[in-house]
Amino acid sequence: MPAPGQTPPPAPADEFSLVGNVLCIDFVNTEVVAHGTPVDRLGDVDALLRWARMADVVDEAALRRLPAGWRSSREAGRLLQDAKALRAVLRGALDALAAGRPLTAEVVPAINDALAAGASTLRLERRGAGYVTVRDALDPSPAALLAPIAESAAWLLEHGDRALIRRCENPRCIRFFYDTTKNRRRRWCSMDACGSRAKAAAYYQRVKAGQPRPSGRPGTSTP
Ligand SMILES: [Zn+2]
Repeated sequence: MPAPGQTPPPAPADEFSLVGNVLCIDFVNTEVVAHGTPVDRLGDVDALLRWARMADVVDEAALRRLPAGWRSSREAGRLLQDAKALRAVLRGALDALAAGRPLTAEVVPAINDALAAGASTLRLERRGAGYVTVRDALDPSPAALLAPIAESAAWLLEHGDRALIRRCENPRCIRFFYDTTKNRRRRWCSMDACGSRAKAAAYYQRVKAGQPRPSGRPGTSTP
């Protein structure tokens, strides 16, 4: 555990993937299936903070302000519990949206509860050659960390196009994404993780069928 005033070490490159295009979707994607086994990447509150840092939900200064010993406090445990409860509700919401089903009654109250913890002000900051809008929580309690996630869920419900909320087409993958590609035909959470595997599987099927190369012949083209 880092000493007070220190931030947790940065997340390993493959710990989290921000492939969802919307913050609340990236948050739901902290649950994955790896080698056929469900894996919760938010194993402890440090992992939650690493994700929040990587997703730009908190900045280094906010992490440094956490009191000594906070990570092992009851409040930290509660935050992790609340985060996972919110994530479960949001996963249910994405499942419903992607399948064209109505949301269950718990979704809006859960989003509103998380929004309530997040009163904040905005501040414009110069960064490099550009500008970034930075959010300062009025209540510096770490519970405010869930508010931006809830805000993005509220945005998705109000303004998002439901047809663009998709689950990865790999049947063994549980990641979601918001399709922002030009032709709206994105199929995989990531080409590396699922797309190339699907292509390799399709290639193997073709080899088995005696058609190793995608040629111009009917029925042999790559998807
Ligand atoms: Zn996938």
